[in-house]
Order: sequence, then C-alpha cells, then structure tokens
Amino acid sequence: MTTSFGLLTDLNEHPGLPTFGVTNPATGKELVRLTDHDAQSAARFADSSFKAFQSWRHTTAFARSQLLRRWFERMLAGIDELAQAISAEMGKPIQEARGEVMYAAGFAEWYAEEAKRLNGETFASQHRHKRLHTLRQPVGPVYAVTPWNFPAAMITRKVAPALAAGCTVIVKPAEQSPVTAVLLERYWREVGGPEGTFQVITSNRPAQVSAVFFADSRIRKLTFTGSTEVGVHLYQQSAKTLKRVSLELGGHAPFIVFADADIQRAAEEIVQCKFRNAGQTCVCTNRIYVHRSIMAPLLDALSTKVVALKLGDPALADTQIGPLVDRHGLNKVVEHVEDAVSKGASIVVGGQRQSGLYFQPTILRDVAPGMRIMEEETFGPVAPIIPFDDEDEVIAAANDTPFGLAAYVWTRDLETVHRLSEQLDYGIIGINDGTPSTPQAPFGGMKASGIGREGGHWGIEEYLDTKFVSVGLAQR
Ligand code: NAD
Repeated sequence: MTTSFGLLTDLNEHPGLPTFGVTNPATGKELVRLTDHDAQSAARFADSSFKAFQSWRHTTAFARSQLLRRWFERMLAGIDELAQAISAEMGKPIQEARGEVMYAAGFAEWYAEEAKRLNGETFASQHRHKRLHTLRQPVGPVYAVTPWNFPAAMITRKVAPALAAGCTVIVKPAEQSPVTAVLLERYWREVGGPEGTFQVITSNRPAQVSAVFFADSRIRKLTFTGSTEVGVHLYQQSAKTLKRVSLELGGHAPFIVFADADIQRAAEEIVQCKFRNAGQTCVCTNRIYVHRSIMAPLLDALSTKVVALKLGDPALADTQIGPLVDRHGLNKVVEHVEDAVSKGASIVVGGQRQSGLYFQPTILRDVAPGMRIMEEETFGPVAPIIPFDDEDEVIAAANDTPFGLAAYVWTRDLETVHRLSEQLDYGIIGINDGTPSTPQAPFGGMKASGIGREGGHWGIEEYLDTKFVSVGLAQR
C-alpha cells in the first residue's frame, strides 16, 4: 500500500483484518488505510504486553538506555519521513512538523539518560539492627491514549519514560493521526526494541478497544492526553482496576501583556503561541489580556504580523498556517467567532473561513466574559484580545476558569514576575516566553487540565513504584 506522500508502503501490518481510512485534511483525500483493531485484538495486545513485561522489567537500565538512544537516533534519521507523515495526516505545516519531530526525539534522548538515574534511597532507623532502603520499580504494562494534534511528541513523551522505567506500553493513537505512531513503533523494532515492549493499536473504535484494557488488571497504568471530557471518562473507567493515572487535558491559556512589556516581542510571541499548528495546541493562548494603555500599539504590531502569515498547503516549506484537522474543528472556530461578534466583539484581521478546512488567522478585539471563546478551547487560529486596567483584576480574570495548564506574562518588572508566577493557578508559566515546552521540564496542568507531569525527571516518576525494604539484622 502506498501513501500519497510516497515514502511509506505496507502500513497495514495485519492484512485480513478490517481497516479504516486516514484522511489528509489539506486535500480531503484518503491517505492510507490502517487496521481497525477490535476488542479481540486488544486482548492479544494486553497478553503480549504482559508477557514482554516479565523480561523487560529485568533488563538493566543501561541496556534500556542504549535502546532508547538508538530510537532517538533513528527518529533523527527519519525526520523527513516522520515530518511528512505528521503534515499529511493532520495538516501541520512541514517546517513545524520537523520541529515536532525534534521535540519528540528529545524525549527519547532525555529518558535514555534518565533510565540510568533511577536511584533508591537509604535512610536511618531508630533501631540499631534495622537497615532501611527503597527500590524504584516499574509500575507494569501501560495503556497510553493520545490526541491527533502532536502525532509524534504526545507518544514519545509517554513511551520514552515508560520504557526507560522498565514498563511495557500499548499506545492507542487518535484515529485522525495514527500513521506517525505506526512509524515510531516500527523504528523501535528496527533498532532492536523487544517484541511486545512498545505496541501501537490502531483503531476507529476507541471506546471498545479501551474497555478491554480498563477491565484488565494486568494493565497497571493509564496515561492519557486529550480533551478534559474524555479524560474524566477514562479516569472513571480506570477506577475499576485501580490503575495509576496521569491525565494531560485541555487548556485555556491567558496571555497577559503589562504596560511595560516589549511590545514588538510580545506581539511576535503571541503569533508563535497562538498561531502555531493553526491554534490547535493545548497550550495555545485562548485569552490575550492587554493593558489598556498599550492596546493601540500592541494591536498594530500584532495585526502587521498576523496579516503576513502565509496560509496554504502544509507540505510547502513556506506555509505557516495549515487547515483545521476536520469539519468538527472548523465548525467550532466559526461558531466561536460568530458568537463573539454577535455579543459585541469586532474583527481586526481575518474572521472568514476559506475553502476546504482553512480559516483565516484572526484577531478579535473587545472580547468579554460571557462569550464562548472565553470559556471553551477554540483550537483554531483566532486571537481574542481583552483590555485590563490593573494587576489584581487581571490575575482574578486569568484564574477564573476550570482549566490550569499554561499561562504567559509579559513584563519587565521583577516584582510583577514573582507575584504572577506565584498567583496564577497554572502548571506552566511563560515569563516573556510564549513557547516554554522542552523535554527536560515538567509539563502538565492543574484543576481540569490534568493530573501528573510529563517531561524531565518528573515524567518518569509516573511510571515507577517506590518499594520500601526493611532489613532486620540479628541483634548483637
Ligand atoms: P479527544 O479527547 O477527543 O481524543 C483523545 C484520544 O482519546 C483519542 O485517541 C481518541 O480516540 C480517544 N478517545 C475518545 N473517546 C474515547 C473513549 N470513549 N474511550 C477511549 N478513548 C477515547 O482529544 P483530541 O481531539 O484528540 O485532542 C485535542 C484535545 O487534547 C484538546 O482538548 C487539547 O487541549 C488536548 N491536549 C492536551 C495536551 C496536554 O498535554 N495537556 C496536549 C495535546 C492536546
């Protein structure tokens, strides 16, 4: 089977089973067909994961580290193939897709190192004859469910620490973008990853397939990235077999520009933060609070940059804005803009849908509470601007949401930096930085944005149990 982007063949690795189509959102054409696994298949994946865990857990950290390092290098060698797959299956502009591959590979590199640093502790006893220490051990086979918007990075951010810790992993990628996941699994096997340690289950029936893993008490952990609504549902499902759970969920990021900010830089970073991936990232700002005294120059600077953004075919090197992922995503963007305008917002730039799944990069001003865009993730290229007058007011407004993933602050005042860092109820704070994510840092949210952290040394904790060992020596 050949894909329209030409590099891949034989993606359907289970001939004879039913298949489902993956569509290129830029062309509307079917890209490839992949196996549509069902509950029976899922049970086989669970058996295989459990079996592989019995030996993988006993491999040395150094052996796991070497394999992860080779996986990292394989991803770098495959950057063209991976970037083309990402771009073709979900519409990310190709240069950005290459950036995602580097970010994704960075987790394999980082956890190749972390694998060797899973140290236990010794600690004191009040009894002369006792020796106390802890062991760090893998939690067991992991079930990972991932979203479509980062088809590579959302997988490696889970799989690399899980494998480094000695867990085996089954990944169920989003049905919109499973091709990259299949490639990542293939790369792992190519570099010597043992059978059953990392498996990708492609399926167009997520609930049916997931139910098997939720019911199976051998699967010890759920790690999920996606919407809050689905995350809550899967959290409840996981309770039946009391799995460890980490959830990376939706966001509604405030971006606060104080009067003393560097306006050009702030405008530049709003563009990066809001319009990358056509606004389809969980840490994209969804509310831009601008101090009233700098509203005019900020809007000027921002408009100039947004008008210049190049919308088009994501496969072309100079494209900056690709299509929305699907009709549902596009409709939500259209509805948010219409709702805001009907309630008093005005369009500064853009505002129109284009042919296919494209929407113009848009700036809305005079946005106010009560508009849908202020409460729901838009997941599209629309920047809503809200004026503010003082610090307490803007902190209260920024925190007035169920979400708590990322927040951004623009100021040159050191005191404001510290006050805002402490008072914003968000897991990630960018100070004069609109794109803070990096593999060695903790990524994750508070409140309805999730439970747990991915990345850095925090990310591997999610896949480890701490075992306490008390050794009683003979009394002498
Ligand atoms: P989604 O919740 O619709 O789907 C995510 C995954 O869940 C997919 O694999 C899907 O097949 C699966 N799924 C859906 N219903 C299911 C069910 N009933 N049982 C089992 N699995 C089910 O999210 P999406 O549209 O793919 O992604 C966008 C969302 O992800 C946004 O809300 C975004 O903010 C969030 N996200 C969060 C982060 C983060 O790190 N916090 C990162 C990226 C995306």
